[in-house]
Formats: sequence, structure tokens, C-alpha cells
Amino acid sequence: MDTTVEEDYEALIQFLYLAPIGLMQTRIDGEILMVNPLCAQLLMPLARDGELNNLYNALESVAPDLRTAVQRFESSHGMICEGWQLRVAADPVRKLGRSILSLTLLKLDEGRLMAVLGDVTQSVQRERELRQSQAWINTIVTGLTDYGLMTLDDQGRVRDWNSSVERVTAHQSATCVGKSYSIFYPPDSLESMDAIDRLHEADRSGWSLDEGWRQRADGSRFWGSCLIAPLHAPDEALDEERAYSLVIRDVSDRREATEALRRSVACDHLTGLANRRALFEACELELQRWRRTPRPLSLVLIDADHFKRINDEHGHAAGDAVLRHLAAGLSATFRAMDIVARLGGEEFVVLLPGCTEDAAATVAQRLCHSVSEQAVNVNSASLHYTVSIGVATMDASVDSVEAFIERADLAMYRAKASGRNRVERWHPGLRPAAVAALT
Ligand code: GH3
Ligand code: MG
Ligand code: MG
Repeated sequence: MDTTVEEDYEALIQFLYLAPIGLMQTRIDGEILMVNPLCAQLLMPLARDGELNNLYNALESVAPDLRTAVQRFESSHGMICEGWQLRVAADPVRKLGRSILSLTLLKLDEGRLMAVLGDVTQSVQRERELRQSQAWINTIVTGLTDYGLMTLDDQGRVRDWNSSVERVTAHQSATCVGKSYSIFYPPDSLESMDAIDRLHEADRSGWSLDEGWRQRADGSRFWGSCLIAPLHAPDEALDEERAYSLVIRDVSDRREATEALRRSVACDHLTGLANRRALFEACELELQRWRRTPRPLSLVLIDADHFKRINDEHGHAAGDAVLRHLAAGLSATFRAMDIVARLGGEEFVVLLPGCTEDAAATVAQRLCHSVSEQAVNVNSASLHYTVSIGVATMDASVDSVEAFIERADLAMYRAKASGRNRVERWHPGLRPAAVAALT
């Protein structure tokens, strides 16, 4: 050999020696001619008496038919086996765990074989775990009748779904693919911005869950839960790569219990509206959302005028009937997504997500007018009453729920001071002292 060929040969040997896979050259009868350290290390647990002379002997316990396979291989060269998995039992004496080797055997020529060995224990294990979870998921997905599963794109539009969605919602996939998942909610109860907000919430916290009324294709409603979870990596930057899984479930059985509990802790007993505590919780959530994604959020505070007189003149029961009448009027006036609550006494608050100050003031005006036009029949008497209303809208200088309500309260006092039965909006000139001076 001349020098360059010799150098190349040296380099090749060096490479084989250090290669990150097990390599071995043997004679056709299995006698080992060359073995690199990794290959020796992989075979050691199999070699009896620590001797490593012959490939067939070394692999006897895990590949007893290897010798026959080589003998049966008639071509002068080629692949005898590829990626055979050899299961090596644990060896407690030598403190070696179970492992799986992968063997590829090449016939180089009539006299020589080349074996390639690798340790595939972890990848086989991972593959098995993956197959196992896939089998479980398939069982769950196909076995579920009251869970509808969908994939949503980055805008919350339905991409595809399993057949259970049709069972749960009665919607047909052909008419829903490409539409926002808000089609499963009653009209008005989930604005498109809210639908996207929930995707962002899922991005931030790993999932987003809500429970409430859902709507089927025929307009009928059911009590359902919607769980949204991101399918993309947390740091996925490309919009088209972002996708979510939505699990919609009919939990009508739970509704009675959930509703009863909710009513008992969150409802005002006299009117059935949300109570002060529920209002503060809902307001807190909306304020947090606003800080993440500012968009219109308004608050309306309604106070019955001269209510004490009604009590004094017609009795407390008549006063209660008026409060219930007002509560019904509020529920009828505002949208399903608005939070209508009784703050206490004859004061009510409505929180209007997605509503500008102008829009809130318009609805408030309508309410004010309709209350003044109506009569409440109590004990054969026909009572008339009016309300004063304050409107406030969220901005960056509002730092708490209390501060937000206080603005609407100041505006409401302004309405009282200006003659009652009217709507006033908060503005920076309305300071508590200034209002007090007016009343
Ligand atoms: P203004 O127009 O300034 O608001 O006068 P007002 O009389 O409405 O206000 P005030 O705060 O003086 O009186 C509120 C009254 O509401 C006093 C209280 O007895 C009555 N009230 C509070 N809660 C209830 C209730 O649950 N039922 C009844 N019937 N009355 C209530
Ligand atoms: Mg009051
Ligand atoms: Mg009052």
C-alpha cells in the first residue's frame, strides 16, 4: 500500500473504532476479526465467561437461528438481516437491566460478514408507550358518545371533528367546518372576541374550561362544558401552525346540581339575579381580561328613586314586588352575556362586556324610559316608580372593581341630583365631594 492509501485505511479504522454504533467484522463462520469498543460493550452482557470470539456464540441466547440464516443466504453478498430486535434479559449479578439490541448483518463477500449493532431499548420503549397511548385515545375517542372532539384553527374555526359532535350538537360537519366554535353557543352569549380570548387563555394556562348553555343545530339548548387545549408547542410563532382541541360535552345531568349550587352561593334570593359576590367575581375576571386585551367594557348602576317612600306607603312586601319587577325588567333589557346583579337594597349593577360607553348609555336610557312607563300591580294598587342610572366605561386609570363601580355610582348620584329618572355618565369632573355637594 502506498502512503495515502495507508493513511486512508488508518483513518477508516479509526472511524470504525470510534463510531457511535457497534460495528464488527467476522468470518462467515462467525469468528470475530474486528470489533469496535461500543459493539464489544453491547455484546459483553451476552458473552459467556466474558469471552468474545464468535458472533453466533455471543448471540446464541437471543438470536439462535442467526447461523442458519447466514448459511441459507445464497448470494455472494448482501443484507442478511436488517434491524432485528434482540431482547437481552436482565442480568442481576452484573447489575444490567433488560435491553433491546438492533442487529443488521451484511455479507461482504463469500468469506466475511459485517454486523451493525445498536442499543434501541429507549426508542422501542418510547414507541411502545406511544402506541399504547394511541390505542387508549382511540378507545376513548370512538367509545365516547357524549364527548364531541374538534380541532380548531388559530381563529377558533372548526377544522375537523369526530362523529360524536353530531350526536352532541346535531350539527353536520359539512356546514360547520370553517365556522367559529361560537356556533355551539346560544346567540349573544359568546362574542367572537371572547371566543378568541379563550384560545389565548388556553395558550397561557394550558387549557380553558367553561360550563353553561350550549345550542344544538335545531336551536334547542343543553347544559354543556367546553374544554379548549392548545395542540401546538407553547412557543409556536406561525399562526397557521397554531391549533386547538375543543372537547364539547353534554353535562345536563350535572346542571341541576351545578345550578343549585350556583344559585345558592351566587344568587340574590329576592330577585334571582347574581348577587354582590358573583358580580365582584365576574367583574374581577373581566378586568383581568381587559388588562390583557383592552376592548370596550362598561358598567351601569341602577338605583330605584324614592324607594323608601314605596316601602313607607305600601309596605315592605310591595317594595319587594317592585324590586322583583325591576329585576325582571333588567333581565329583559340586557343581553344574555351581560352580568345583571343586585348590589344590595334597591341598587343593581349590569356589567356589559364588549359594550362602549355610548352603547351602554343607550340601553340604560331605554331601560330608564321603559321603567317609568310601566306600572307594578301590588295588592290591587298600581304603583309607578322610576330609576336613576349611572354609566361608566373601563379605562387604564381604573385599578379595581371597587373603583369601576364607584365611577358608575358617582354618575348615578349625579342623576339623582339632577332630578332623578335619568341617565348620567361618569366623567373626570365627578369627584365624590362634588357629587355630595349636589345632593
Ligand atoms: P333615592 O331616590 O335617593 O335613592 O331614595 P331612596 O329612598 O330610594 O333611598 P334610600 O337609600 O333612602 O332608601 C332605600 C330603601 O330601600 C331603604 C330600605 O329600607 C329599602 N330596602 C333595602 N333593601 C330592601 C329590600 O330587600 N326590600 C324592601 N322592600 N326594601 C328594601
Ligand atoms: Mg340606594
Ligand atoms: Mg334609591
